[in-house]
Amino acid sequence: MLEIHVMDLEKDPDEMYKLAKKIMSQAYAPYSGYKVGAVIKDEHGNLHQGVNVENAAYTGSHGEYGAISAMLASMPQGKCITAVTIVTKDGGTPCGNCLQHIWQFCNGIWSVPIYCGDVFGKIKIFQIKELLPFPFDFEF
Ligand SMILES: [Zn+2]
Repeated sequence: MLEIHVMDLEKDPDEMYKLAKKIMSQAYAPYSGYKVGAVIKDEHGNLHQGVNVENAAYTGSHGEYGAISAMLASMPQGKCITAVTIVTKDGGTPCGNCLQHIWQFCNGIWSVPIYCGDVFGKIKIFQIKELLPFPFDFEF
């Protein structure tokens, strides 16, 4: 069973939450209506942003993908994620596919925090090991 912590962000402002909430409105989700703003912090403290993008074929990319892509594009060397924040209307968690993508860049650190915020300022805090306890191995 996951232990879920809820933090009142009005008392504990968080830069990543504010940024993810801001960019969430820029997501392109005309089909599902489920907008996602994702912000990743890298090992140097830089923040990378992404939003989900849908299309008429009902495929698309998730916000977490966009943030990881932005991180890779901005830093050719060093690709370690130290924190992830996503904001959705209901505080949902990243999907399994996104969690595997995130894990690929956590440098084996199980305690990387995943902050899942809603639009009302509440955030659930997980470690990636809680959301993805059995990731695929890196080497096949
Ligand atoms: Zn996803």
